[in-house]
Amino acid sequence: MAYLKQLKKVSEEEMRRFVAGKTLPAEAVRPGRNPEPATPREGSGRSEFRILEHVEKVRKVGRNYVTQCSSCAQAGHDRSGDNLAIRIDDPRFYKCWAGCTKEMIREALGCPIRVRQED
Ligand SMILES: [Zn+2]
Repeated sequence: MAYLKQLKKVSEEEMRRFVAGKTLPAEAVRPGRNPEPATPREGSGRSEFRILEHVEKVRKVGRNYVTQCSSCAQAGHDRSGDNLAIRIDDPRFYKCWAGCTKEMIREALGCPIRVRQED
């Protein structure tokens, strides 16, 4: 019985394939239209934080950029806008002369450092 069922199934599939072959063209041949572009996955994975993309009005002072520390600014300080120094040759390094931590600065910029609990 099982053998018969299998037989039947195969022939059904063959039949379907045969029919599909007959009716394929109308469905398969479409004008060469590009599919909708997928959402760009910019910075997928670990994207690097670039502080220069988050601060305004940087000035060059010596080997650093100097700008307002957003953490200080949130507290109503740094009105002269020169507390935060960012290394020009490596903007990953920045320092607030008023003593704000990296975490405070990132938080104030709206890009808090995600802390991983693994110690
Ligand atoms: Zn600060």
